[in-house]
Amino acid sequence: MKQTASTCCYCGVGCGVLIDHDGEKIHTVSGDPAHPANLGRLCSKGSTLHLTGDLAARAHYPELRLGKSLARARVDWDGALSHAAEVFARTIDEHGPDSVAFYISGQLLTEDYYSFNKLARTLIGTNNIDSNSRLCMSSAVVGYKRSLGADAPPCSYTDIEQSQCLLIAGSNMAWAHPVLFRRLEAAKAEQPDKRIIVIDPRRTDTCEIADLHLALRPGTDVALFHGLLHLLIEQRQIDHAFIAAHTDGFEALQSLVERYTPALVAAECGISEADLHLAASWIGDTQSFLSLWCMGLNQSSAGSAKNNALINLHLATGQIGKVGSGPFSLTGQPNAMGGRETGSLSNLLPGHRDAANPEHRREVAIYWGVDNLPEQPGLSAVDLFEAVRAGRIKALWVACTNPAQSMPNQQLIHEALATCPFVIVQEAFTTTETCSYADLLLPAASWGEKEGTVTNSERRISHVRPAIGAPGEARADWSIVCDFARRLERRLLPGRPSQFAFYSPAELFDEYKGLTRGRDLDYSGLSHALIDRLGPQQWPFNASTEQGTERLYTDGRFATANGRAQFIAEHLTELKETTDSDYPLLLNTGRLRDQWHGMSRTGTAAQLFGHVELAQLAMHPDDLAARDLQDGQLIRVSSRRGELVLPVLAEPAQRPGQVFLPMHWGDRFLKGLGCNVLTQNGYDPLSKQPELKQSGVQVTPV
Ligand code: SF4
Repeated sequence: MKQTASTCCYCGVGCGVLIDHDGEKIHTVSGDPAHPANLGRLCSKGSTLHLTGDLAARAHYPELRLGKSLARARVDWDGALSHAAEVFARTIDEHGPDSVAFYISGQLLTEDYYSFNKLARTLIGTNNIDSNSRLCMSSAVVGYKRSLGADAPPCSYTDIEQSQCLLIAGSNMAWAHPVLFRRLEAAKAEQPDKRIIVIDPRRTDTCEIADLHLALRPGTDVALFHGLLHLLIEQRQIDHAFIAAHTDGFEALQSLVERYTPALVAAECGISEADLHLAASWIGDTQSFLSLWCMGLNQSSAGSAKNNALINLHLATGQIGKVGSGPFSLTGQPNAMGGRETGSLSNLLPGHRDAANPEHRREVAIYWGVDNLPEQPGLSAVDLFEAVRAGRIKALWVACTNPAQSMPNQQLIHEALATCPFVIVQEAFTTTETCSYADLLLPAASWGEKEGTVTNSERRISHVRPAIGAPGEARADWSIVCDFARRLERRLLPGRPSQFAFYSPAELFDEYKGLTRGRDLDYSGLSHALIDRLGPQQWPFNASTEQGTERLYTDGRFATANGRAQFIAEHLTELKETTDSDYPLLLNTGRLRDQWHGMSRTGTAAQLFGHVELAQLAMHPDDLAARDLQDGQLIRVSSRRGELVLPVLAEPAQRPGQVFLPMHWGDRFLKGLGCNVLTQNGYDPLSKQPELKQSGVQVTPV
């Protein structure tokens, strides 16, 4: 038996795993005690990774169909990629580079991301490359950039243990980031006077650790954070010296929050004034204040404003850049951070650069040895699929993600995928809903079979190592992209030396890291070999660094042009979609403890259905009684976009008027297109992140 150290492929905690295998089969997985993220712990998902290797669910060979009504047939890699290159070249010739698009994934490794980005921006010349991180972290990206100058979470996991006052907002951390929650539980057991405030409309398992649970009305987080700041100012618990020395814009914010009185905020948020005062006094009194948040803030039409209103609290109290303090977003996917670093959102470029910034485009163009990069803004996820449906995108490449389940407003997504002239799906699992729309299916290697790097929520880069070979002819994502790119180069630019002559992920990493040099995230000093020698490292880590950087902004200098952080003063805005007499219930969606996203992997392990066996709509008993419904009864839940039939669950922890549906079950399991047939695609104007968390629905008996 051999043992290979690698990283869990599920969430942004980025736990280290030890894979026991015989070179052909993975037998067990255990937590890596040497990995700083988890120190040997694993959650139910990570510890069952070896049970998710169901080969029957895997894509083994490339498959191609030459007409929408035909079945796909097996084809060899040469035939598959030559055909793809020819279709892309012809589409670009006839309709221009913006007629093709890529929709990729926070599950990809950094080297995969980089190869996709280089292909789209240089060889094809389009910014139409977006990722499912758009559904996950793009509001946090805007929040960090507007306030602090860079998309850089400033904290470390050790801050969770060292903080005296933690605010957890819009995150069921106990289920979504379980290993971090275990670290918090252990710290709370050791220091019972550590204050924990949880802000969530639902009473989740995370609330069990809370000293104070603020069950606010959905969408009112901005009012709550402004109300807290109002009280901190009134009680003279802000840090005037820090504000004067390190920030801009406080006067405008102070003037704005004057009107967020405790009475107004309590009424708006549906909480008591006493609880608001208590939360403000804990934040104001503490020596260290840490906030943790996830999709409850991000998946909102006011996601950017929510992020910035929370960061305002840290700047006003000077609680940033210190031990146990700071704003700390919990990343959803394992490598959403790596994607942001490599520029894998349509508005970004590698090295935390912006596609709309001419100087940034020039820097990257020089590095890549091309005359220029495309100026035309790229399409973000919602707009991208609308463009596909409208016929403006004629060739779409989807990699390692399942938009036919995960995107909001599913009817639109299915129409788009069904009518797009050419769809490539690069996938490890053939069971995803999106695979049925593939004209060309490219089998990808998966966890345990591929190599590269990932960056977790605390900016720590780990080396992901393979233990066994991929099944059939499946290949690593970066290798598929580079092979395709070399063929497209020969078609579009015959005779030019290839810019995609990469034959290992380490080569890709070594080229990519140069684009981080001199930037806030500079990890030009790292390499696969150095990570192997020193262990996983937190960026920045430049060539003169001997170890990674635990905490950012410790000197009070921020990543803005003038080095000063910026307060953002924005009012509370209404939800994109509210309830009415036809749709009187507000639907919230989210994760369960033992499932991951669309269940392509976790759905293959029977053990992971022990916690929750099937999709159920959670509803307050009063709402059930008002409809004469019984617990467990089959119901129809409908929104302005579609409907589902599934059992209802009587759940006293739900607030009356609000219902909750797990995000994991797609149309393989439900009558209908899965939970996102109900959700709306209205989005935040800055981050373009859709408001997946709030849609109006009605529930009726079947
Ligand atoms: Fe994997 Fe996240 Fe669980 Fe860690 S907490 S084992 S990274 S799913």
